[in-house]
Amino acid sequence: MIAAILDALVRTQRLRLIKNCETKTVFGVECPAIRACPSCGMLIEHKEACKHMHCRCSQKFCFICLEKSDSGGQYQCGAWNATCTPAPRQTSVPGQ
Ligand SMILES: [Zn+2]
Ligand SMILES: [Zn+2]
Repeated sequence: MIAAILDALVRTQRLRLIKNCETKTVFGVECPAIRACPSCGMLIEHKEACKHMHCRCSQKFCFICLEKSDSGGQYQCGAWNATCTPAPRQTSVPGQ
């Protein structure tokens, strides 16, 4: 019960962060500076000049389009610096 309440609080805070974070330009496209992992919802701030993210849950995804890697671990939208279509700012925190 308490765990469920804490979980809800954490989610609310994460949501506030991804909704209000600054945008930055990554490889020519505007993109929120913070994304939630599409698998576990952990927040990841973009720091390096690479769009490929590797979450601690082992999920790999593209920071710009939020496309998950395929089952072989390959990113689906090209090289680490290839331009792809930015996904809109996330409005919910994915998964658990
Ligand atoms: Zn994750
Ligand atoms: Zn992409």
